[in-house]
Amino acid sequence: ARADLVQAERLTTIGKMAAHITHEIRNPLSSIGLNLELLEEEIAKLQEGRESAQLVSAIRAEVDRLSRIAEQYLSVARRPRPQRQPERLQDLIEELTAFVGPELERAHVALRVETDDREVDVLVDEAQLRQALLNLIRNAREAMPQGGSITIAVHHLANSAEISVDDTGPGIPEELRASVFDPFFTTKQRGTGLGLAVTREIIESHEGTIVCEALTAGGTRFRITLPAEESDPQ
Ligand code: ADP
Ligand code: MG
Repeated sequence: ARADLVQAERLTTIGKMAAHITHEIRNPLSSIGLNLELLEEEIAKLQEGRESAQLVSAIRAEVDRLSRIAEQYLSVARRPRPQRQPERLQDLIEELTAFVGPELERAHVALRVETDDREVDVLVDEAQLRQALLNLIRNAREAMPQGGSITIAVHHLANSAEISVDDTGPGIPEELRASVFDPFFTTKQRGTGLGLAVTREIIESHEGTIVCEALTAGGTRFRITLPAEESDPQ
């Protein structure tokens, strides 16, 4: 147990160092990005600038990727404690679907929302739950590059509320299903592997659970369970 404790302390030190380094990297990275923008403008003016333009756009892609990692990493490392308030899940999801509608439409992904009639408030940090669901929706979209559909379902049970996000994508191979929530686990060329780690952190800090299941039709379901409103508001 003592060794565990030492190990846990070491991890928080490493975690703090990592957050610090990430923060330090963010500023130079944004200045690289700005200078790159200027360079792109200059190259666009050149007659024979095509090759340079390609090189610069390759650099741009990597700079963007590093920035995304830094932002997402910091949003995990510095996520504030959830400020939970009673919210109607239906309203929150309605607002979220209006927000993601256009990007899903462009990707030929249809979105359906199923909610039951009970209107029960759930104690959540609206911004954080929104982020958690957005990560699931974006993953679903990215799993279906040729298009498909996403179904978000909300059910209120006796002491909990359940939100599931289903897709008609290729599914997650069984041997990877246990790893998808691990920080930095990604199968995407430009993925950060932080989306599901953040999502799980958010749900668990709401005393909820999240699991990933295979659908018989072949797609994936992420199922979130949150305690219903009678739980203590921290
Ligand atoms: P990222 O999206 O940056 O790869 P995530 O943590 O969001 O990181 O997801 C981790 C991995 O889980 C993805 O790379 C992908 O392999 C898998 N995954 C997540 N959601 C889905 C999904 N809806 N369908 C298929 N695979 C998924
Ligand atoms: Mg993701």
